[in-house]
Amino acid sequence: MITIIRNISVYKPESVGIKDVLLLGDKIAAIEDKIDINLNGFVEVKEIDGTGKILVPGFIDCHVHILGGGGEGGFTTRTPEATLSKLTTSGVTTVVGTLGTDGVARDMNALLAKARGLDEEGITTFIYTGSYRLPLRTLTGEIMKDIMTIDKIIGIGEVAISDHRSSQPSFEEFCRAVADARVAGILSGKAGIVNVHLGDGSRKLELINRVVEETEIPITQFLPTHINRSHELFEEGIKYAKRGGYIDFTGSEDPDLWEERDGEVRFSKGLRRLLDEGVSLDNFTLTSDGQGSLPLFNERKEFIGIGVGSSTSLLIGIKECVFKENIPLEIAIRAVTCNPAKILKLKGKGKIEKNFDADLCLLDEETLDIDTVIAKGKIMVENKKAVVLGTFEEK
Ligand code: ZN
Repeated sequence: MITIIRNISVYKPESVGIKDVLLLGDKIAAIEDKIDINLNGFVEVKEIDGTGKILVPGFIDCHVHILGGGGEGGFTTRTPEATLSKLTTSGVTTVVGTLGTDGVARDMNALLAKARGLDEEGITTFIYTGSYRLPLRTLTGEIMKDIMTIDKIIGIGEVAISDHRSSQPSFEEFCRAVADARVAGILSGKAGIVNVHLGDGSRKLELINRVVEETEIPITQFLPTHINRSHELFEEGIKYAKRGGYIDFTGSEDPDLWEERDGEVRFSKGLRRLLDEGVSLDNFTLTSDGQGSLPLFNERKEFIGIGVGSSTSLLIGIKECVFKENIPLEIAIRAVTCNPAKILKLKGKGKIEKNFDADLCLLDEETLDIDTVIAKGKIMVENKKAVVLGTFEEK
């Protein structure tokens, strides 16, 4: 399949001006001022007019409960599985799936099967092995074997710390799991990243900081998430990022609900702070916690209600950066493109470059709304509508 996107403003993520972009099969073949090819009509060439539009890399959402999550208010609160069009219409072309609180009623076999399904439906998927709990329940029985022998497994997580729902892991237990992920990553050319769920407990990043201080394991082995769940945690996150650590923001849709009532730091405001504090442009990511339950507990830690995360929060976060905080688009989109690709060592992902995967989003220049989404060279969303649906999705 050959596709040419013409006359479009390209953000690689850095802005390189108006270009023509040629896609051959599932790869980006050329980015030039003007591309002319003559195939004498032997092969059909799809032309897309990019006038008035912006081309950005397809979004990488590296923390999604693709199998559903939760159940923190009993079995009726187990959240539904991810669907293809919900992801693609949110601009997501690569997803990293994870289990969460529940690693029993949902397990690694099911998570891997779900990831393979979404992959066959057209997007790229990876997964973390384990759940909140340590010792980890893996697919093969060992962390190292999982990472080294299962292509889709790129690290461990989300391991919960500083949370009333965590398994309250000891320092030694935590260290050993991190060490196994690291060594398996080194041996297999993967990131071996440790995705850490941070709760609202007072210990915050303490366990991670101890590993960094007391062992030889580098700070870059971790990707702690939900760093913006409170102002107090975010302040610790800034110090951590300034020391070279990676931090992951969890996006949310409704600022009134989560910012005002729950004390969350919006991604846009958090990123503004990071930039003012001089944190590296490589060290932050934004994920949706998609399909995860958003359980609400009162001050006595009693369950009072539940919502579901969605990948739509990524673009909402990017738009708030640009329109409310005046952060350049080329910086804001790093959080969902080149940064997760680099941190998680996802080859061919996260940039608009020759020979990279043809994972792309076309956005309206004025509104930054998603118009078209291309995954592995195939058009998934066109004129704001999903044109490829998951197997059991209804038109
Ligand atoms: Zn979490």
